[in-house]
Amino acid sequence: MTAIRESVEELADRLALAVSELVTRKIISTVSESIRTADVPIPHSPPATNGSHKRPGRKALPPELKKLCSKGDGKPVLAKGLCRADYYAARRKLKAREALKNGGAVTPPQT
Ligand SMILES: [Zn+2]
Repeated sequence: MTAIRESVEELADRLALAVSELVTRKIISTVSESIRTADVPIPHSPPATNGSHKRPGRKALPPELKKLCSKGDGKPVLAKGLCRADYYAARRKLKAREALKNGGAVTPPQT
């Protein structure tokens, strides 16, 4: 009986460890996700120092930097929920489509 009891206790210990690890991972992913959706300073952009009196902080960011590209590449939004690259790509596609609609023989850009 002791052997069984010991193995059960060992199992319980392992289970507790696994559960706590799972919970920890879940917490970490939830937190990092909420951070990602919140206004995170862009890593490569210099800190907003337009005004020597202003303290560097997340609230100092201009509103357009708070939104991130809807394509999920983590870049700041330029317009229509898209970052610079994606916005211009979308515009090129739209122009090509309009050209086709107008009877033009423009080939759509390679994507
Ligand atoms: Zn983008």
